[in-house]
Amino acid sequence: MAEGKSSVGEVRIKPDRLHAFTMAICRADGSSDREARLVADHLVLANLFGHDSHGVGMIPHYIQNTGTGACVRNNHAKIIRDNGAVIVIDGGAGYGQVVAKEAMDIGIERAKQHGVCVVGLTNAHHIGRIGHWGEQCARAGMVSTHWVNVHGHKSLVAPFGGAEPRFTTNPYCTAVPRKGKEPIVLDFATSQVAAGKVRVANNKKVQMEEGLLIDAAGRPTTDPGVLYNPPFGAILPFGLHKGGGLAVICDLLAGALTGGRTHSPRTKKDSTDIINNMLSIIIDPKAMGGTEMFEDEVETFITWVKSAKPQPGVPEVLAPGEPERARKVDREKNGVPIDGTTWQQLLDVARKVRLNDTEIPQMAAA
Ligand code: NAD
Repeated sequence: MAEGKSSVGEVRIKPDRLHAFTMAICRADGSSDREARLVADHLVLANLFGHDSHGVGMIPHYIQNTGTGACVRNNHAKIIRDNGAVIVIDGGAGYGQVVAKEAMDIGIERAKQHGVCVVGLTNAHHIGRIGHWGEQCARAGMVSTHWVNVHGHKSLVAPFGGAEPRFTTNPYCTAVPRKGKEPIVLDFATSQVAAGKVRVANNKKVQMEEGLLIDAAGRPTTDPGVLYNPPFGAILPFGLHKGGGLAVICDLLAGALTGGRTHSPRTKKDSTDIINNMLSIIIDPKAMGGTEMFEDEVETFITWVKSAKPQPGVPEVLAPGEPERARKVDREKNGVPIDGTTWQQLLDVARKVRLNDTEIPQMAAA
């Protein structure tokens, strides 16, 4: 089913054209063809999956950061500690879409050798949608779990019970491969709402739902401006003490355990930099209960779960990862909706990197 009514100024772009446009911007900014392709693959897939906060709208931010050196073009993952099944990789502030892919390639090879590989990826520029890395592992037949923190950026999310922000939207992901089917992918921010969604509401000057934000005094508010205008408020963690606890664990595993550093006054900057650290545990099912048994159990359990009678008003019980794939089918057919503000920002950045003016509409028109 196609998505609802278009908002004012929204454009719909065919995915291949959006991909070509994104690649052209990165290339014109000085990225290699491979880097530009990996960035475009990642961002356009995030849009196809419906996670627009992590789609091509990130490009103006990325190009701003390559300009300041906060994102280093054409950099590669470098192993800095090697204990066989436990490795630490320095991303060197390179494009996350490149260094996280390379880190997962190495981790998958090691997991094939040892049955498991624990990868600490440190100091990567924004690694985007974490499900992308779980899906890469799943394509290689591996189960993987990923814990991520963010620094270089201002604090956005309050700890459970706190009236001030202390970390950011710390995402978590687990991906489980299935025989002959798309994987199970649970992938979310540990905050009630992604920061990008607050930004969009603030740009549009609309109120948000209740239960997502607090003001500087710790009182509930629906005003997205509390994240942008002093005195600053915060986003709440999801799931009360449970989600709040998971967010803390993300910083401890991704920031303290890997050596990539936690979000604290030592690493926090009130800038647009975004450094991600990620702890990934990649496991070969062959090394545990055996691949056949694993695949059979996954199918049995997922079939059982999905057989539950849906609640009133719910069409179907879905497995994690299914909503994204349904959106992809729709957007591949009907184009990717890009809101007017984001589209203007993309056109502006295309001009900034000196893409040929006549080239832009040709590549971008749906
Ligand atoms: P979300 O709240 O949309 O939750 C998505 C997850 O819930 C998916 O696994 C999805 O399949 C599952 N899901 C949703 N509805 C479902 C249903 N009805 N039945 C079963 N499963 C369902 O995600 P979010 O918190 O808005 O995060 C969006 C993206 O932002 C994620 O990809 C995340 O990795 C990314 N992110 C990245 C960073 C970073 O620093 N790189 C920070 C925060 C978030």
